Amino acid sequence: MPDPSALKSTLARAIRLLTAEGLIDMNGHMSARLPGTEHVLINARQVGRSAVGPHDIVTVDPRGRPLPGEGDPPAEVPIHTRIYAARPDVHCVAHLHPQFATVFTIAGRPLVPVFQLGALFPAQGLPVYDDPDLIRSDEAADAVARTLGSARAVLLRGHGAVVVGEDVETCFTASIWLEENAKKQLWASVLGSPRVFTEEMVRRVRASLWDRAILLKTWDHYVAKGQREGIL
Ligand SMILES: [Zn+2]
Repeated sequence: MPDPSALKSTLARAIRLLTAEGLIDMNGHMSARLPGTEHVLINARQVGRSAVGPHDIVTVDPRGRPLPGEGDPPAEVPIHTRIYAARPDVHCVAHLHPQFATVFTIAGRPLVPVFQLGALFPAQGLPVYDDPDLIRSDEAADAVARTLGSARAVLLRGHGAVVVGEDVETCFTASIWLEENAKKQLWASVLGSPRVFTEEMVRRVRASLWDRAILLKTWDHYVAKGQREGIL
């Protein structure tokens, strides 16, 4: 098995930073495929999200069962394993409880691209999984994966969101951009009716933004901020 220590460390940092930014609260989790294996790394169930370190990342098999000697994964681990089963292109999954994006599912209003960084998401709005219950079974998680389809994120009604990425840094960046768009859309709604990007605008802006150097700038910015503020 490849040495997972670097990936565990990156994953733990991403979880602490997402917690500091209000996208993960006392619950929420992030996972990554362990390259060269069928296994998945995910933060342990019991550990506080603001204090996750590399040693708090557990390894589970494709059914979400911990490998011998590992701690317990979160109860909602099927969200991760079933999305990996459905999406070979996805190597990192974040289950978030974002302050702002979640509000749209409560109001029943679509979360749509209104801000540059939001062009990552569909012009017609993010898909919404309509059941607010915990997602603890493979059946429920398969339904979430179906609602996600080929998108980069799905909202969970009255609950949170699931964001996917090609790696931890991509998934982290997409999560931050989702919440930035949600904040701006919510504030704009106070002033009037938000002007939604057209499909053509979304295509163009997404092509401009979805560049590894640009998305790593977001990751580097939050890592530096986290170090300055003593979060990392
Ligand atoms: Zn949850």
